[in-house]
Amino acid sequence: MTIGGHVADDDRTVTFAPFLRWDHDVPLGAMVSRATGLPCGVYNDIDSLLVDASWFGPDVGLEAFAVLTIGIGIGYSLAMRGRPVSYPDKSYGLLGHVLVDPEGPRCTAGHIGCAQCLTDDSLAAQYSQMMGRACTFDDFARDAQAGLP
Ligand SMILES: [Zn+2]
Repeated sequence: MTIGGHVADDDRTVTFAPFLRWDHDVPLGAMVSRATGLPCGVYNDIDSLLVDASWFGPDVGLEAFAVLTIGIGIGYSLAMRGRPVSYPDKSYGLLGHVLVDPEGPRCTAGHIGCAQCLTDDSLAAQYSQMMGRACTFDDFARDAQAGLP
């Protein structure tokens, strides 16, 4: 199974999953195995997309490529010669706080204009402020696709 968060090298223990508000070790693989009677490995969701793209996607045979996801958060993973690149802050979601717009909104961590301003919740908040009423991300997407200025 995959999860949006950091998984320990044992491929069974989630150490950090901000969207689930998990900031401590959760033995998710063991919990799922106990509940289902089946073996369970746990992997980071973006790394799994990267491996899928390396094996079956349009990125087969490329020297290097990255997977970037934007939704409730910002995800990033890098492959070299078809294999995921490992680095110390991998899968902690730190790309989400890289500056993209010096005049952008402030994120929950206090940064101004970091990549978090591109997430669904941030776009909904920015759109709500522009429209003067509460709007959802779906409202924003629908109006943008309809060409509403
Ligand atoms: Zn930030």
